[in-house]
Amino acid sequence: MALSRVVGRLIGVRQHVVDPGGGGAPRVPRAAAAVVVGGGIAGMSAAVVLAERGVDVTVLEAAPTLGGRLGAWPEALTDGAQRNEHGFHAFFRQYYNWRSILRRVDPDLGFLKPVPGYPILSEQWPTEEFGKLPPAPPANLLALLLRSPSLRLADLSGMDRDAALPLLTYDPVRTYAEFDRMTSDELLSSLRLPDRARAMLFEVFSHSFFNHEAEMSAAELIAQFHFYLLGNPEGLAFDCPDEDYATAIWEPLTRHVEKHAGRVVTGVAAARLDREPAGWRVTATDGSSYAAGHVVLAVDPPALAALVAASPGLAAVAPELVARMPAFGRPGPPYAVARYWMDGDVRAERAVFSGVSRQPTLDSVTLYHRLENEPRRWAERTGGSVVELHAYACEPDVPADELAERMRAELTRLWPEAAGLRVRELRARVAAQAPAFTPGSNAWRPGVRTDADGLYLAGDGIATGFPSALMERSAATGILAANHILRAEGAAAEPVRSIRPRGLLAGRR
Ligand SMILES: Cc1cc2nc3c(=O)[nH]c(=O)nc-3n(C[C@H](O)[C@H](O)[C@H](O)COP(=O)(O)OP(=O)(O)OC[C@H]3O[C@@H](n4cnc5c(N)ncnc54)[C@H](O)[C@@H]3O)c2cc1C
Repeated sequence: MALSRVVGRLIGVRQHVVDPGGGGAPRVPRAAAAVVVGGGIAGMSAAVVLAERGVDVTVLEAAPTLGGRLGAWPEALTDGAQRNEHGFHAFFRQYYNWRSILRRVDPDLGFLKPVPGYPILSEQWPTEEFGKLPPAPPANLLALLLRSPSLRLADLSGMDRDAALPLLTYDPVRTYAEFDRMTSDELLSSLRLPDRARAMLFEVFSHSFFNHEAEMSAAELIAQFHFYLLGNPEGLAFDCPDEDYATAIWEPLTRHVEKHAGRVVTGVAAARLDREPAGWRVTATDGSSYAAGHVVLAVDPPALAALVAASPGLAAVAPELVARMPAFGRPGPPYAVARYWMDGDVRAERAVFSGVSRQPTLDSVTLYHRLENEPRRWAERTGGSVVELHAYACEPDVPADELAERMRAELTRLWPEAAGLRVRELRARVAAQAPAFTPGSNAWRPGVRTDADGLYLAGDGIATGFPSALMERSAATGILAANHILRAEGAAAEPVRSIRPRGLLAGRR
């Protein structure tokens, strides 16, 4: 075990148990049914756990394919069909709950391959490398402070160390009480960091949460520093599937749910939800309807708000849920994804995944032909490359193709050789579905349990009370929702785990 992990373990930087699970029969003792609306990570995580315990579960997914923001689908290109995806995803190693779901289809997680390096590119400054830090705190933080070319020791003396203390003292209650009304921008400014350190070390990180710093809660930023850097023994290392998400994840997970007698229905959107004497009825846009004692709404924030608004009966049985929706349903800014199939390749030393600092649009670059098998084979056959560009929080009302072109132009400023590559195919998309973490949002953020019996929420915008984010929060809330149902029906619950629940110095303030 790395020395940093041994030291980290001694101070409690390790996996913690949020819920040991168990406490009931291996399978539900009597017939029980659940409908899960949404077939992304949150919905499928709930469905896996429910089906395994014998709950009669039906997943309704509006899109023709599963996965939501981690989706993958066949794309017709001029020289044949290929799978395209909603966008590159880093599977961090402290995603304990998401990984436990994925182990159902691959116990060793062999399909996840380590991605070497995590460089941050800038037009102004030399590349910063996050991937070479020791994994666990406090060694990773010390190494960052001592080794980073973006932050010299002399800079630390000019920094406001008191302002930095909240980053080390994350507490799931106090951090939100003290910092949820402040913006991330205000918090970062209060640190009095040199511009280069702010850009290379902090801004790239905060951009990854699909919110602008000026509109994102400082408490949420502190929570994410804790979750990704300061509270887990695995560090910033991550893995990625070597096949597209449909092949690696969604097709095997569907087979797993079906093996346990669950149903996964795609291309059917829930239109409304009604409370009935015996439970709930979900009516779909195609007129079909599904009755069950329990419902998990595992859709993105705008879709949840729309579904609640289209279900007038909820006002009487779930007034608190209804009241939270207008704020919750407003998503974060649009994000853009552009996948380019190009003639020729970028230089061999370019990393598979790079974060980008201070470009107006571009936030990351992924070389898919060095990551997944199908693009790799295409590139070998054609001599080309498959390059995906992301913008995590962009200007509203700009068409996808225009954002793609801006990102490509910005890439050529960082990697000049990219200017010489001819574009064969482009698939560009812009969407606004990510949860907003605006200042003050903790007050109205809904949790997994709603005020109506048998109605639960899951997704990456739902509060957990323990550190989690993005894909991991979706999986964790899906499992939590399933656990409420299992306990109500007398079946054993699923274990839930988290990283160190509080900051390294949380007890000392
Ligand atoms: C470009 C991009 C890059 C990302 N990179 C990372 C990363 O590197 N690491 C990371 O951890 N996370 C990353 N994320 C975030 C991650 O994708 C999300 O946190 C996660 O996938 C959300 O899953 P979910 O199940 O909560 O929601 P979703 O994936 O949004 O799933 C909700 C599902 O509900 C369906 N739905 C909506 N309305 C209805 C209805 N009425 N009836 C039936 N179905 C409905 C939708 O079609 C969708 O499939 C990234 C996201 C994007 C967009």
